[in-house]
Amino acid sequence: MPVSGLGPYDDQNVFARILRGEIPCQKIYEDEFALAFHDIAPQAPVHVLVIPKGRFVSFADFSAQAPAPLISGFFRAVGTVAREMGLDAEGYRLLANMGPLAGQEVPHFHVHIFAGKPLGRMLVASAGQ
Ligand code: AMP
Repeated sequence: MPVSGLGPYDDQNVFARILRGEIPCQKIYEDEFALAFHDIAPQAPVHVLVIPKGRFVSFADFSAQAPAPLISGFFRAVGTVAREMGLDAEGYRLLANMGPLAGQEVPHFHVHIFAGKPLGRMLVASAGQ
């Protein structure tokens, strides 16, 4: 069972459907471990999503259940995407929402990459409350 409050993996979630090629994405990078594509509603000049190739609902699920080669391959792919997009010099932010309090909307583990402008404080809404 997945390790998070998100329930069992839903094969109809939007990222599962993107992985199966059932709906399109603006692909940036793909290897045996990961797929990276532009977020459909970008919140920064660069807003990329990187998803693992596997049925994991969240970071909690992925970190606890994924085989080690997939965990390492996935995070290496995140770094490769950022480097190949030329983001290393100016910098970028990684973000992974996990579960209800973080506002995770899509129940397939994903890492956001934000870049292209000063990104400000880490948390904006209800900071410190
Ligand atoms: P989260 O709130 O961390 O679950 O983020 C989900 C992200 O997926 C949001 O930033 C959405 O804009 C993005 N998203 C949802 N559907 C799509 C899609 N079909 N293609 C690309 N990004 C999507």
